[in-house]
Amino acid sequence: MRSLVLAAGLLLAAVSTGAGAAPYQPPKSVPPVASLADGIWLKGDLHIHSRHSKDSSNNPVKKIVALAEAVHMDYLLISDHDNHVNGDVAHNTWTDPEYVSKSVLLLYGAEWTTHRGHGTAISAVPYDHQALYDVADDRDVAIAAVKKKLGIHLSANHPGTHDAFAFSYDFVDSVECWNSAVWANNAINMHIWDDMLKSGRKMPCRGGSDSHHGVPDSPELTTPLSYQAPENNVGTPTTWVFAKARTRQAVVDALTNGRVAIAANPYTPRVDFTADLNGDGKPDVMQGDNAKPTGQPVAFRVALVGQTDPAATYTVQVVKNGDKFTTLTFSGAKPEITFTDTPSATARSYYRVEVHGPATPYPQVPGSMKLSGDMLGLSNAICFNFDPKF
Ligand SMILES: [Zn+2]
Ligand SMILES: [Zn+2]
Repeated sequence: MRSLVLAAGLLLAAVSTGAGAAPYQPPKSVPPVASLADGIWLKGDLHIHSRHSKDSSNNPVKKIVALAEAVHMDYLLISDHDNHVNGDVAHNTWTDPEYVSKSVLLLYGAEWTTHRGHGTAISAVPYDHQALYDVADDRDVAIAAVKKKLGIHLSANHPGTHDAFAFSYDFVDSVECWNSAVWANNAINMHIWDDMLKSGRKMPCRGGSDSHHGVPDSPELTTPLSYQAPENNVGTPTTWVFAKARTRQAVVDALTNGRVAIAANPYTPRVDFTADLNGDGKPDVMQGDNAKPTGQPVAFRVALVGQTDPAATYTVQVVKNGDKFTTLTFSGAKPEITFTDTPSATARSYYRVEVHGPATPYPQVPGSMKLSGDMLGLSNAICFNFDPKF
């Protein structure tokens, strides 16, 4: 009888903490947060297809790099479908004589295009992509071992939009929660990302334009999908990373660590999301960080950095632990706002923000704002009590 009562009590406890929630022991400590000043925000696009992808058109590497340079991208990954070259991206995209730039850091990688969904392999240096391609249909445990040996960053692409990512997320380093200029299609990607965070995975979210088509050089080269070139192209959306230096490795490390923000296009202001933990008026953590809560109130600050419209009103949607927490507004003339909350000292929690407002024109890709609507930017999450050993 006693055990029955106990079981009923446990059942009630499980129900009251929400579906899927399990008892959680917060970590005794978390590693110190990295410097908020020692770094540089760099912008780029990690998901673009050139002529080495058979489903692209009018998109030679040269054209993509030229647009990236024109909009002052700091880094770029041309991520062609690996199955279109039987895994041999090393002798296609990577060695294309046009894959060079004086101003843009060009990364190594490819879209790992499998029967169980797509991912982007990302690396600062060349690696054996063929090995990853060759295990695509293997068991997850075998894939995880190969991925670890290669030392690459693996990001789940458009996980809930199309070609849904159906591998274990235990060997995934980030999620593409904003795929292409079409913001409206990303709801399920966002949902999956929130689920990863809720389950204790301090997983960064990134953007990727997934653009395939360039502007034809002459009218007769127009294809049925050429209309996409002025709507979805380099930097729709743009992924910002807070890197320790202007190097390829620092870009990949920043992506892995999660100090990442996403903006609708290269001209859109970047969302800056920080928190003051000790009430001294100075930020102690930024998006992507994990801190030990003190049980005292935390002052969160949301700002837009870049060219805002002084006459415009921007709306901030704050999400806490996957649920709508509060909605705030501020003017473009003073593009920042604060809010306060007390993260639980005994539970895991996270906060992230979405900023909506008037579109920032992208002259080279004039149709992109029509597809992104009023979605300007996403932050990554400020996390509390996430287990660093997870
Ligand atoms: Zn894909
Ligand atoms: Zn793609």
